[in-house]
Amino acid sequence: GNKWKILVTEKVGESGLDIFRNAPDVELDVEMGLTEDELIAKLPGYDGILTRSGTTMDEKKIEAGRNLKVIGRAGVGVDNIDLPAASRHGIIVINAPSGNTLAATELTMANMLAVVRHVPQACSSLHRGKWDRNRFTGCQLSGRKLLIIGLGRIGSEVAKRARAFDMEIIAYDPYIPQKKAESLHVELVSDLEGAVSLADVVTIHTPLTEETSNMIDADMLRAFKHGAYLVNCARGGIVDEAAVAEAVREGRLSGFATDVFSAEPLAKDHPFLAEDIAERIVITPHIGANTLEAQSEVSRIAAQNMLMVLRG
Ligand code: NAD
Repeated sequence: GNKWKILVTEKVGESGLDIFRNAPDVELDVEMGLTEDELIAKLPGYDGILTRSGTTMDEKKIEAGRNLKVIGRAGVGVDNIDLPAASRHGIIVINAPSGNTLAATELTMANMLAVVRHVPQACSSLHRGKWDRNRFTGCQLSGRKLLIIGLGRIGSEVAKRARAFDMEIIAYDPYIPQKKAESLHVELVSDLEGAVSLADVVTIHTPLTEETSNMIDADMLRAFKHGAYLVNCARGGIVDEAAVAEAVREGRLSGFATDVFSAEPLAKDHPFLAEDIAERIVITPHIGANTLEAQSEVSRIAAQNMLMVLRG
């Protein structure tokens, strides 16, 4: 009989591809690095597409995919997919929200430690032949106040680990019950501006929504405690990037670590790449979910759920 045609456009874990390869009712194409036009030309031939965050499924592509029944996202964020357009065309969008929680959590801890201890800068200085111990004096996490914005899957796991570092933890998340915060030994606060004025380290773990877009803007940054650190492993658009770079430049932020950017890949003239603030900025190229374990999990979960949708 007819087979479901599935297109995979990005590098996903083998476990998901194996699920498709072993399914008797699936014909799989893996096509990485397609241009926008190539993708649009191919889309009509597919019942399902599996992507990560690098494939934008906007209205134009959703219309091009006239046989599409399901869009799978091997990961959490679906901000690269036009959900209203998909729903208007009767296309089901599925993601794999829990598969990369721990990977993103551990990168958050890595970047938090990296920025307060200047790890990347110290490493590259040594690579350049220097032995400069005094330049890289940092600060300890122990005893510091951590504000977690968004106490969901990742935020909660970050809370557990920050507790092991003896941080005092407060969280801002208007959508979770008090009980959840209590069980994590976290004090839930309802005023974001007040909270940022108290925190030594602020870490962001919300989705990118209309409400969170530019949540950390120039005004909010002025409310921060002087010399605080900011960590973002959630989504780029949540912070106003020019305003953050300026706050680092003026020393209002002691440091900023981010894995995500409002436009990816990062432009060559991006404010975070400015030479004069390089000492206090830690940037990683959206690698939060890049562990073998997470890639395998999200790919497996997404593929399984896509098949469930297709088979009805
Ligand atoms: P989640 O849905 O489990 O948690 C998000 C939390 O944010 C929820 O508790 C929600 O109530 C809260 N929230 C929503 N709007 C808010 C607002 N206006 N103010 C405060 N809190 C708000 O999601 P998650 O799995 O923990 O993922 C968190 C973020 O991390 C997402 O943006 C996701 O895309 C991102 N992420 C990034 C990477 C990476 O590679 N860097 C990997 C995985 C996830």
